[in-house]
Amino acid sequence: MSQNILVLPGDGIGPEIVAEAVKVLNALQADYGLDIELTEGAIGGAGYDAAGHPYPDTTKELARKADAILLGAVGGYEYDKLPRELRPERGLLAIRSDLDLFSNLRPAILTEELADASSLKPEIVAGLDIMIVRELTGGIYFGKPRGIRTLDNGEREGYNTLVYRESEVERIARSAFEIAMKRDKRVCSVDKANVLEVSELWREVVESVADDYPQVELSHMYVDNAAMQLVKEPKQFDVIVTKNMFGDILSDAAAMLTGSIGMLPSASLNAKGVGMYEPIHGSAPDIAGQGIANPLATIMSVSMMLRYSLDQAELAAKVDAAVKSVLQQGLRTADIFVEGFEQVGTATMGDAVVAALKG
Ligand code: NAD
Repeated sequence: MSQNILVLPGDGIGPEIVAEAVKVLNALQADYGLDIELTEGAIGGAGYDAAGHPYPDTTKELARKADAILLGAVGGYEYDKLPRELRPERGLLAIRSDLDLFSNLRPAILTEELADASSLKPEIVAGLDIMIVRELTGGIYFGKPRGIRTLDNGEREGYNTLVYRESEVERIARSAFEIAMKRDKRVCSVDKANVLEVSELWREVVESVADDYPQVELSHMYVDNAAMQLVKEPKQFDVIVTKNMFGDILSDAAAMLTGSIGMLPSASLNAKGVGMYEPIHGSAPDIAGQGIANPLATIMSVSMMLRYSLDQAELAAKVDAAVKSVLQQGLRTADIFVEGFEQVGTATMGDAVVAALKG
């Protein structure tokens, strides 16, 4: 039975980069028998324009039926004056919570071809391939009580609550171990168990989940050390699993190891393996409509979709190889361009990936 892919181009450069990723999906359908059906919906500013809401009911219906979702990006200056609940970014939060996408996968990959784009020495980062699994719907960003209160002496105090239930830790740990099984079978759980009780429980639960995955090697690291190790020797990691806030910070640091925002895909999964796949960058309104955006992060989001929602690891590897091949051919969009290479636009880059897939 064909699998149902919902395509949500969104705003700004979203439609341009998603069009290239769709070319890749079409090529996989035509040449490799990938059995999928694509449907398109509106989200973000496009959702507001079409139906007066950033996550319209029609999109919600389609999303709930989808096996996987491919999203471009949302946001644009023209929506900045809308009431907060109607702004494009609210559409993203709404779809994540509607589908319970609690597991956020942020790979930091740096192919040898782009090692010079990093601010770290090429030998430290060339060939980097880390997966950060961040818990996305719990922890201190959601914990209650929270607020700002005035104390008896008149001084104000801000407070948030870091709270994790065993079941929340268990499902994110399981997600990380499942992913490790498809990679190098190593999980590093990052916490602050020397100071926080929440982390003590986190560690205990992660260890009990590890019993179900004897093939995977588990290690633990304190978050301060993890930040240091990510910059010092990032290639030591395979999968990192961590709570929401630590993951937020570490995944941005890891992303920057690779030097280019236009090259990084991401996935957010729920317990059923349904996932939303999107580049980590935004809608880049400053370059929208110019045909110069880098589509590779979105194309690599397709590769993640093949691997994590569609169970098509071989096709995922083919897409990764095609991306590597176009970089080896010397093609570069403006954001990753350096002297001596060939500068190309969005569509040419997409076509080159499709040609490499077919070749
Ligand atoms: P951004 O990621 O859109 O852009 C940052 C810079 O990177 C810009 O100079 C942009 O031109 C460049 N850039 C981004 N993607 C690129 C690509 N594929 N190719 C070449 N260059 C690229 O971040 P921003 O400017 O802070 O935000 C713009 C809008 O995007 C805002 O409305 C913001 O809320 C929204 N946003 C959306 C998401 C999302 O949809 N997941 C994420 C972040 C920001």
